[in-house]
Amino acid sequence: MQKGKVSVNTENIFPIIKKFLYTDHEIFLRELISNAVDASNKLKVLAAKGEKTGQTEDMKITVSLDADKKTLTISDQGIGMTAEEIDKYINQIAFSGAEEFVEKFKDDKESANIIGHFGLGFYSSFMVADKVEIVSRSYQKDSEAAHWSCEGSTDFKIKKGKRKKRGTDIVLHINEESEEFMQSHKINELLNKYCKFLPIEIEFEEKVINNTNPLWKKNPSDLTDEDYIKFYEELYPFAEKPLFWIHLNVDYPFNLTGVLYFPRIKKDIDPNRNKIQLYSNQVFVTDNVEDIVPEYLMLLHGVIDSPDIPLNVSRSALQADGNVKKITGHISKKVADKLNELYKKDAKDFEDKWSSINLFVKYGMISDEKFYDRTRKICLMKDVDGNHTILDQYVEDIKATQTDKDGNTIALYTSNLEEQYSYVQKAKDKGYNVLLMDEIIDNHFVSNIEQKLEKVQLKRVDADTIDKLIDKGEKAEAVLSDDEVNTLKETFEANVDADKFSIQTVVLSPSEDFLTITRSEWERRMSEMGSMGGMAMFGQMPEKYAVSVNTNHSLAKKVLEIADEDAKKALMNNALDLAKLAQNLLKGKELSDFIKRQEASL
Ligand code: ADP
Repeated sequence: MQKGKVSVNTENIFPIIKKFLYTDHEIFLRELISNAVDASNKLKVLAAKGEKTGQTEDMKITVSLDADKKTLTISDQGIGMTAEEIDKYINQIAFSGAEEFVEKFKDDKESANIIGHFGLGFYSSFMVADKVEIVSRSYQKDSEAAHWSCEGSTDFKIKKGKRKKRGTDIVLHINEESEEFMQSHKINELLNKYCKFLPIEIEFEEKVINNTNPLWKKNPSDLTDEDYIKFYEELYPFAEKPLFWIHLNVDYPFNLTGVLYFPRIKKDIDPNRNKIQLYSNQVFVTDNVEDIVPEYLMLLHGVIDSPDIPLNVSRSALQADGNVKKITGHISKKVADKLNELYKKDAKDFEDKWSSINLFVKYGMISDEKFYDRTRKICLMKDVDGNHTILDQYVEDIKATQTDKDGNTIALYTSNLEEQYSYVQKAKDKGYNVLLMDEIIDNHFVSNIEQKLEKVQLKRVDADTIDKLIDKGEKAEAVLSDDEVNTLKETFEANVDADKFSIQTVVLSPSEDFLTITRSEWERRMSEMGSMGGMAMFGQMPEKYAVSVNTNHSLAKKVLEIADEDAKKALMNNALDLAKLAQNLLKGKELSDFIKRQEASL
């Protein structure tokens, strides 16, 4: 029997490993099974090269628990190791690798993340075991089995082992704090999380737990729609059917495979459900892909598999990595291409799907110039009557009727058809088109496209009175004299809360409303930005509205003519309440008083 010390200097590597990897103990299983898969694949490579390896078909990896001995064993039928190889790969290489790893990340604040990505390999088993044994026999002819054991210090023993067949058993004597890993449901859970798509069969309690040939590794031309949907269900058992998908398959200049699904996005999206999963050679790495996939694409579901994404680096290094940038660019181009293809293939069907995908398309257009350029030709504008028009075309369509005296084309929109109904109606009566912009993202989208399109402005229907909304410089003939107009204005001013409402007079057709309450587009956007946490300073802005008095309305004359002060006040208050009702501003006591007055007059 040979005795020795596991490599060099750091006596205390095991305590460090144990303590410092506290968050992700469970990854030991992934690490050991990955090694077993590698050992099996290596053997296949050798066999393919013509070496005598024995049978390489139907190799499997077995995971087993022994409750009496308190052990968890991972057995493979792979390449195996001789005593010399164990000394080299485990005592020297694996150890120095582990040491280097710990040294590198000991003081790194992000280390918890990194470890979540890729661990220490074989030595991570000491996070959960007091003692680890390796029983291995090399595939080489006449090789003897070797038995290595180590009790969580730098001392190890190596002796002849008992193993008749080629392969390796890794036996973990699970420590007291880690007893959960002796429970079969826990092991099942972990195998499901990390090993579900590994390329070598993994058996636990007589059941194969993995799909060795997952869909994303297959040739797209061999797959049917049902295959994609079935795989989606395999990934997310309780999710609704996806709308469509993209199969990613690149091998140069980086290696990337995967399938991305477009879910039906609803208003109450939860980006934490059914997240994109990142794999590296079919080993699950993480479903925290925020540094690899642009934020707007995180609403998609599915799988990305790339051995070219560096996993044991810090977040900033990952973002700066050339391959990651290319991968990100590739994914976003593929997504844009797919959208264009779908639109070309069946515009009607695309329109039907628009409500489910517009959120993320718009999000992408806002946050990524290139994506904007690639998708502006399929970005649909939906109007209140349910018609869809491509952005550029829409601007062309409304130019004739909705261009103001300064040559700006004004697109009108409503953010809530119910609440802004009377304003929408006024715009429609005037022959204008009104867009429906009622998604959470539309707020930002509106200002964003306005910046990008030349001589185009967007205004919410209640941003101004109908004559000013799209100011064509036309003036209706005034019925009242200037003096009368001034008196009317002063009378109203004396009657409203000046902090909230400012009075202005307008000359509209007598058939338009007497009073209209509006809020300027600019002011509303600022305050919305403030309340969305964008700019704190605007959050404090008081809500200010303009009350426009139509001096051509018959009630204008009436207000001027009424002698009785109380009756005049009552008339003005009633008119104001009606205007507030139209703008959803009549609330609380004011609303209750209004209802009482109306009832009394019935
Ligand atoms: P890594 O897998 O990153 O190389 P590990 O510490 O996990 O590092 O393993 C070190 C080495 O030990 C491996 O590269 C491999 O040569 C050898 N090894 C580990 N597990 C096995 C196994 N089950 N069968 C054969 N060789 C193995």
